[in-house]
Parts: sequence; C-alpha cells; structure tokens
Amino acid sequence: MSEAPLMRPLPVITDMNSYFWRSGGEGLRILRCGGCDRYSHPYVGRCPSCGSRDVKPQTVSGRATVVGFTVNHQPWFPHVPVPYVIAYVELEEQSDIRLATNIVNCPVEDVAIGMKVKVVFEKQDDDIYIPLFEPA
Ligand SMILES: [Zn+2]
Repeated sequence: MSEAPLMRPLPVITDMNSYFWRSGGEGLRILRCGGCDRYSHPYVGRCPSCGSRDVKPQTVSGRATVVGFTVNHQPWFPHVPVPYVIAYVELEEQSDIRLATNIVNCPVEDVAIGMKVKVVFEKQDDDIYIPLFEPA
C-alpha cells in the first residue's frame, strides 16, 4: 500500500465521466448537445433539454461566476489544509451549468457571491485533473 497521502478524495473514473476528469490537458470539457446546442452536466445518457443522444464533450472557456459558497473549517481530509472554500460556480457559457468546486489561490475572506473566477487544474494520480477555480 502506498504511503503517499491523497491530497483530495478522487472520483471514480468511468467511460461516462473520463472526458471531464481527464480534461486538464485540453481545458474544461462539458457535454454539448448536437441537436439543440445546450450544455449539460453531468452525463445522464441524453440531452436533458431536447432528449437527443447526440451529446459530446466540448471545451469551454473555463470562466465562471461564484453563485454560492461556504467556508469549511473542519479537517475532513487530513492533508487538505483548512480553512478552504467549497463553492458552486456557474459557467459563462450557460447559466444553469454549475460545478461544485473549491476556490483556490485567494484568501477565503475575499470570496464573494458574484466573483468572477477561472478554472485551474490540479493534477492527481491516474491522469486525473481536478477542476478548481481561482480569481479571474
Ligand atoms: Zn439537446
């Protein structure tokens, strides 16, 4: 067993989500519908707007707005220093596409609703890139 601690809990990678978790080299990828052009996240097998199965990952800008957040002081993960911000960010491309993430590279007291942020990837083992957000 490895003695190297994981910095964060990592997702289980499947055929349905690898486009998202392994997108760090190419930018943030979100599914887009070939029928109606709407984005959707996460993958649910078809487009939630029009029902089309023609959904494919597309690289987006990585720009977003903080729409909700909390400051966590609880050391849930021994190697993730507290406090840190858990946030919902809304992607620039479509207002109902929201990601749960952490806001990084910024004092926790500076995070606010409406703050403009951009994606930054944290590379983990197994070619996983965790999308985090920092001030834009
Ligand atoms: Zn659609």
